[in-house]
Amino acid sequence: MTRDPRFDVLFEPIKIGPVTAKNRFYQVPHCTGVGHRLPRAHAALREVKAEGGWAVVNTELCSVHPTGELWPFPESRLWNDDDERAFNLLTESIHRHGALAGCELGLTGLTMANAYSREVPLAPSNQPNAHTTAPIHARAMDKSDIRRAREWHRNAVLRAKRAGFDVIYVYAAHEQALPMHFLQRRRNNRIDEYGGSLENRTRFLRELIEDTKDAVGDTCAVAVRIAVDELIGDEGITCENEGRDVIEMLAELPDLWDVNISGWANDSASSRFAQESFQEKYVSFVKKVTTKPVVGVGRFTSPETMLSQVKRGILDFIGAARPSIADPFLPKKIEEGRFDDIRECIGSNHCIVSELAFCAPHRCTQNPTAGEEWRRGWHPEYIGSKTSDDPILVVGAGPAGLECARALGQRGYPVHLAEGSKELGGRVKEESSLPGLGEYVRVSDYRRYQIEKLSNIQVYMDSKLSADDIIEFGAPNVVIATGSLWRKDGIGRTNLRAIPGFDLPHVVSANDIMNGASVKGPCIVFDDDLYYLGSAISEQLAQQGHEVVLVSPAAEISSHTRFSLEQGAIQARILKMGIQFVASHNLLSISSDHVELSCLHTGRKKSVQCSSVVMVTSREVRQDVYKDLLKRTEEQDCGSVASIKCIGDCLAPATIADALFSGHQYARELGEPESKLKVLDEALVFESSEKLREE
Ligand code: ADP
Repeated sequence: MTRDPRFDVLFEPIKIGPVTAKNRFYQVPHCTGVGHRLPRAHAALREVKAEGGWAVVNTELCSVHPTGELWPFPESRLWNDDDERAFNLLTESIHRHGALAGCELGLTGLTMANAYSREVPLAPSNQPNAHTTAPIHARAMDKSDIRRAREWHRNAVLRAKRAGFDVIYVYAAHEQALPMHFLQRRRNNRIDEYGGSLENRTRFLRELIEDTKDAVGDTCAVAVRIAVDELIGDEGITCENEGRDVIEMLAELPDLWDVNISGWANDSASSRFAQESFQEKYVSFVKKVTTKPVVGVGRFTSPETMLSQVKRGILDFIGAARPSIADPFLPKKIEEGRFDDIRECIGSNHCIVSELAFCAPHRCTQNPTAGEEWRRGWHPEYIGSKTSDDPILVVGAGPAGLECARALGQRGYPVHLAEGSKELGGRVKEESSLPGLGEYVRVSDYRRYQIEKLSNIQVYMDSKLSADDIIEFGAPNVVIATGSLWRKDGIGRTNLRAIPGFDLPHVVSANDIMNGASVKGPCIVFDDDLYYLGSAISEQLAQQGHEVVLVSPAAEISSHTRFSLEQGAIQARILKMGIQFVASHNLLSISSDHVELSCLHTGRKKSVQCSSVVMVTSREVRQDVYKDLLKRTEEQDCGSVASIKCIGDCLAPATIADALFSGHQYARELGEPESKLKVLDEALVFESSEKLREE
């Protein structure tokens, strides 16, 4: 396949100071949940991106000194020789594929509590810790602190150069970096030459850029990552005044401007709140005030949008974090004109959830191999060939069944995929019908297209199979991916027994709502699931004109979305829509025209009038067919069926990403001898940069 020459411009080499990027695809710094703790995993994760065609591949935030560390989050570090050695491994992996390696060095100051080092965090002025609820303060830096901070940064710059990096950052974004705190009027009360006028508040940033240029500018490019708008109006930096003025002031000093908006929740807004290229209106001025190349982000997945960004002079480089996780081979696919093969990011921010909630290697709702490149040796594009010609019957075409069938098909197995309904997609088809979740359908769209291309996969729609049907079909390998259903009885985290009244006709489940059940207002939505669904259903009901009361045992709306950086935006939207939120309450009982609630803290009861109740509490596995099959196996009445495996939500309901992972894992491991699979115990060993030194 060849690409339309219109897109050639995306593959022009671009000079960044003393180095040259081979094209305009730029993987901006992004965290991985791997960082300094798992150097081999980090190198493998970045290597697939270099292999996939990104011209520049960056690290995540790399701490330069223990006075700014992000424990328990595994950021990168360049504190000592061990860290340097670990990065040698990473830069070699990136260089192997002709890409430039970049390192986002950062002094993080008051962002975090320095929980590991116990160093007092540093700030332009005395103030409380910014991004945690830890009851600690950062201390104002005196002149000698500023001198020392510059020295630490310079030392890390020299280490980064020795470690083989081509692009070295000065970081002033995301409300997370000391130079940004100096820029912010509200954080900087200094009366010396580092405070007051914007010129003074920019001084520290300018000095860091000059130090970096001086230390490595002859061979390494010096990039500045800076937030040009904080989206808080005149209280903060905006692209109309100080954000613009700073870039004008320093316009030609760095070799590259990497520009975005702040804080992280704005920069990485989910698809529920921001569409592709959402940052354009904030960053479009930058190219007008500098001759240096400019990179920006906006969850770019469409080649047309990328082309338009370059043609209209908005950006020189197409920056991407989340789209590069969902599809590390995105540039290669565009280069080869294979646009339909792009696995588009759905903007669920699940990568961020895994990093923030679990401090674990990141996972992706589109790419089940993300974070498994080293540990399991999974590649996002390649997979081992089949080890036999035995057919596999996959029952259920939600994310687990679709991914399982697709990956088995890619291995060359004869695959039969049976779906009980008239549409593919299972839960993603249902969830994507809710307000703001439309992009979730990309999970099934990508797989449907890949399956259509493979002649060894037969799809049977409208084919709800029983155990008898499956045995009669006669495939030796059977995969049950029949998913789960939201419960109507209210059983969940808070209530381990059914809620009295759940069987009244005006009580419905989340599935009923997603499948178009009509309800009467006022509606009570009881959300004991605490992720995104309860608030999305509330939004839909309010859009339909119903009065809605959202009740939750948690203190805030959709509390688990704190980790997907959506919680603040969800709470704002729900409250602005006039939906009443009742926090920290359980649903005790349901009557025909009201519900009884009780406060989790005081036990005080109150009743709320309603005409319908929607339960979003927990899910029940749909294992009837699986259990029937197991019973038939025990009775040795399974015909030629030799193996039966239950996967995805049918095994244990979890996230869409978990369902995909489960389907992919089955497909990867089928027919592989134990010895060929990476033994998990061994692969999960807590690897450290100290361990590398021993080798
Ligand atoms: P997962 O997230 O694990 O993929 P889903 O609930 O999204 O699970 O999808 C399960 C799919 O299985 C749904 O599309 C559903 O229609 C289908 N399904 C359920 N029972 C059967 C059955 N007996 N035969 C065929 N398909 C089924």
